[in-house]
Amino acid sequence: MEKLRRVTLLRRLEVMRVPAAMRKRLTTKGIGSALLCLGIGPGAALAQGIPSPESVLGFEPGADYRLASYEESVDYFKRLDAASENLRLVEVGRTSEGRTWYLAIISSVANLGALERHRDAAQRLARASISEGEARALARSTPVFVDISGGLHASEVAGAQHTIKLAYELLRRASEEPVRRMLDSVVLFLWPSLNPDGQDIVVNWYRENVGGPYEAAPLYELYQKYIGHDNNRDGYMLNVIESRVLARTWRYWEPQIIYVHHQSSPFPTRIWLPPFAEPIAPRSPARIVREINAIGMHIAQELETRGMPGATHAGSGFDAWYPGYVDYLPVLQHIAAFWTETALYRYATPYFYTLEDFPQSYRDFRPQNLYVSPWKGGWWRLADAVNYMLVASEAVLDYARKNRYALLWNRYRSARETIERYRSEPPYAYIVPREQRDPMAAVELLRRLAFHGVDLYELSRTAEHDGERYAAGTWVIPMDQAFAELVRQLLEVQVYPDLREFPGGPPEQPYDAAGWTLPYQMDVRVVEARVPLEEDFRAALVPVRADPRAEPNDPATPFELHPVAAGIVGPPGGLSGSGPLVSVDPRQTYGFKLIGRALARGGSVRFDPQRGSYLIGGIGAAEAERWARELGVRAERSGIRPGPQAAARVAIYKPWRPSMDEGWTRWLFDQYGYPYTTITNADFPAGGLESRFDVIVLPSESVDLLLNGYAKGSVPPRYEGGIGAAGVRALDAFVRAGGTLVCLNRSSDFAIEQLGLPVRNVVRDLSRSEFFSRGSIFEVVADTAHPVMAGMPARAKVFFDQSPVFTVEDGFEGRALAKYPEERSPLLSGYLLGDRHLRGYAAALEVVHGRGRVILLGFRPQWRGQPMGTFRVLFNAVLYGGELAGAGLGSDGFWTAPRKGGVEGEVQGR
Ligand SMILES: [Zn+2]
Repeated sequence: MEKLRRVTLLRRLEVMRVPAAMRKRLTTKGIGSALLCLGIGPGAALAQGIPSPESVLGFEPGADYRLASYEESVDYFKRLDAASENLRLVEVGRTSEGRTWYLAIISSVANLGALERHRDAAQRLARASISEGEARALARSTPVFVDISGGLHASEVAGAQHTIKLAYELLRRASEEPVRRMLDSVVLFLWPSLNPDGQDIVVNWYRENVGGPYEAAPLYELYQKYIGHDNNRDGYMLNVIESRVLARTWRYWEPQIIYVHHQSSPFPTRIWLPPFAEPIAPRSPARIVREINAIGMHIAQELETRGMPGATHAGSGFDAWYPGYVDYLPVLQHIAAFWTETALYRYATPYFYTLEDFPQSYRDFRPQNLYVSPWKGGWWRLADAVNYMLVASEAVLDYARKNRYALLWNRYRSARETIERYRSEPPYAYIVPREQRDPMAAVELLRRLAFHGVDLYELSRTAEHDGERYAAGTWVIPMDQAFAELVRQLLEVQVYPDLREFPGGPPEQPYDAAGWTLPYQMDVRVVEARVPLEEDFRAALVPVRADPRAEPNDPATPFELHPVAAGIVGPPGGLSGSGPLVSVDPRQTYGFKLIGRALARGGSVRFDPQRGSYLIGGIGAAEAERWARELGVRAERSGIRPGPQAAARVAIYKPWRPSMDEGWTRWLFDQYGYPYTTITNADFPAGGLESRFDVIVLPSESVDLLLNGYAKGSVPPRYEGGIGAAGVRALDAFVRAGGTLVCLNRSSDFAIEQLGLPVRNVVRDLSRSEFFSRGSIFEVVADTAHPVMAGMPARAKVFFDQSPVFTVEDGFEGRALAKYPEERSPLLSGYLLGDRHLRGYAAALEVVHGRGRVILLGFRPQWRGQPMGTFRVLFNAVLYGGELAGAGLGSDGFWTAPRKGGVEGEVQGR
C-alpha cells in the first residue's frame, strides 16, 4: 500500500548519501538482537537439529544486499519440515505462473495431531451453526488459529524474509517457555509468501542490479502476472488465481486472526499499525474491529518494551472503506484481519537518514499520543524492518495466546449477532431473478459470493414475496446467515461520508474506491427484501449445491471447485435457426468469447446495424454449435446479410513503467480468449503500425507515464522512456491512415494533448475543493445505436475513477457515445463533489482524426475486472475499426456540447 505520501517518499529517496562501494563495507547491525515478545533471546539452548537459515541460505535473512528467493525460502521450510515435529508444510495450490504454493502449519505436537478436530471446531464457530453452550465448550477446548504471512506486495521485501526467521525462532525454542505455552494454545498458519511469483520477480531483478548503478531501480514489470499491486484489491472479486487460493484456504481452516505485512509506513514513522484511519467499511462487525484495534495497540506496546521506537496508528492514509483488500475483507466474515506497514528503503539496500530528510513537522520529535516515541533518523536496514516485523508477528501470537478464549468466542458471537440482526431488520434477503439482460452476469456475481462461503438457495416453485411473484429457479440469499455482512457490503449502495481536511476545506481523499456496488457494476437486477420472507416463500427454498466440477488451478473454471458455486448455472447455450452465419447479441457479454474464438481461428465478424448484433462467418456449423454450448452463449443462425466488416487486429500498449490497467486489460482479453498483440516502445519508431493493426488500446495512465515512462538513468536503458515524440508521430500516422485508437479513461488526456484533438477535459484543472470523485459508480445516457455502445442499456452504469469529462471545441468531427444526464447528479454509489461539472457533458466520444478515429472512454470499462456491465464497451471498441467505423453509425443529434457560459458560468458566478 505504497500510495501514501508518495511524493515525499520519492523526493526522499532520490539521494543516495553513501557511495555503493562504501556501503558494501558497512557491517550489518546484529540482526538477532531484538528480543522478541515471547521471550526469545540469546542464551537459550538451541533445539537439536533445527537448521539455521544461515546454514541453508548462506546468509541471515535481513542481511544487507541479500534476499532469499521463493525457491530458497521453500527449500528452507522443507528442511524445517524434515527436522521439526512442530511444523508441517502443506501444498495449497499453484500460482498464476505455475509455482507450487506452500503453507507451513506450526503448533504443538498435540495440536498438530488433532488438527482435523480443531478445524471442525473452527468451522462450527465460524458458521455459528451451534448453540451458545456448545460454542463455549468448543472455545474452551480449541486452540486459536492465527494466519501470518510474508505479505503480497513483493517489492515490500522484508515480509517474505521475516517468515523464514519467524519459523526458525519458534521451532528452535519450541520446547522452552514461553514458546511452548504459546504453541499449546495457538496453531500458526505461516505463509512464506502470499505472492511467490512476485517474490522471485523482485529478487531476480535486485540480484541483476545490486552493486551496479541500478541497484535501487524500480521494476519494469508487474509483480503479479496481470495485476501487480492490485493483488490486494481483488479480495471480494477473486479474479486472479492467488486470490482464490487464499479464499479457499481460509474457508478451509477458518482462522480467527489474519495478519498481512506491508512496508510503506508514512515517513518518518517506522511502523504503521491499526486502528485504521477513517472511514472503515460500514458493515464491519463492531466486536471484530475492537479486536483489531486491541491487537494493534498490543504490537505497539511490545515494540516500545523492546526499545523499538516509531510506531504509529490511524492517521489519514490507511482507511478500510474499500472491502476489496485481501487483508481486510475477512473482517466481514468475523475474522480479525488486518495489515501493518513497516518502513521500507529499497529492497535490501540500507540507507542513512539525516534530519534534512524529515518533513518540517516531524523535525521537533514531539511525542504525539499515537506516535509517542518518534524515530530520530540514522541507519535503516532490511534487518531493522525484519526485526520490527518479527516483534509484531510475535506480539500477535502472544496476544492470541493470552486471549485465546475471547478470540474463539468473538468469532462465534459476532456471526450469531449478524444472524439475529437480519431476523429482525432489513434487508431480510436478496433475491436474484434468472431473467436478466445478461444472465451470465448474475451467475458470475453469485458464484463469487458462494466461493466466499455465502449460502445460496433457489425457489423450487413459483412463490410470492411482498406482493411480487418469483419464478421457480429464482436465487435467494437469506440474510440470517453468518457472512451476511459481506453480502450486504457488496450488494448495497455506498454513501461515502463527506469528510473534510478541515471544516469547509477540501475532501479527505478516499484511500481507494468509494463505491463498488456489484449489482450496478455487473448490471445484475437484485431485489432487496424489505419485509420478512413469508413462510410460504421460505418453504419453497432449496439449498444450491452440486458436485464440484473443476480442477483446482484451471483458470477457465475459477469457481466451480466450490460445491455451492458449482450449483449456480446459467441458461444453456446453443444455436437456433438456420443459415451460414451466427448472430451474437452483444448484451450477452460471453458472446465476446465466441467472437474471440472465431477471430483466433480466422473467422470474420460483421456488424448488423438493424439488430445491433455481430455476425460471425467462416466457422463450421458443428464447431459454432459446440462453442455456443461450451460458453453458455445463446445465438442464432442467420442468412447472408450485408453488414460492415469489424476490426480483427488488436494491439494493447504495455509501458515499461508497470501499468495495472494494462494488466487488467490483458487479464480480460485472456479470460475471454480474445486475440491481441502486446506492443511496447520498440514498436513505435519503425512506424507502419497501420499495416499491422486495426485498433490500438492505451491503458488508463497519466500523460507523463505514457509519454515519458521512466526517466533516463533511473532504470537500465532498455526500460527508459515512454511512447515519446517518435511514438506520438507513429500513433498519429496510424490514426490518420484509418486506424482506431482506443483511450481508456486517463489516457484520453494523452490523446487530446498529443494528437491535438479539438476536445477538452473539463474537470482536468479543477481543484479538489471544487470537484472530487474517486472510484464511484455514475449513470450515463448511452447512444445504443453506436456500435461501441451496442448491447448497453440506454441508461447505463459506469465506473468513474479520476476520469475525464468531455466537451468539444471548434473543428470537432465525430460523435458522443455516452453523456451525463443534465437534470440530476449522475452519482449512483460512492462519492461525488461538484456534480454540476458533469451535467450535460460527454462521458465518451468518437473523435474523427484524418481517416481514422480516437475513441475516448471517460470511465473504466474493465476496472479490476469488476464492471461486467461495461466489458462489452471495451470489446465493441476493439471491433470498431475499418469498414465498421467508416459506416458512420450512431444517432444524429444524440448530444450537443453545453455552451460556454452556460453550466460553467454558474460555477464562476458562485
Ligand atoms: Zn503493500
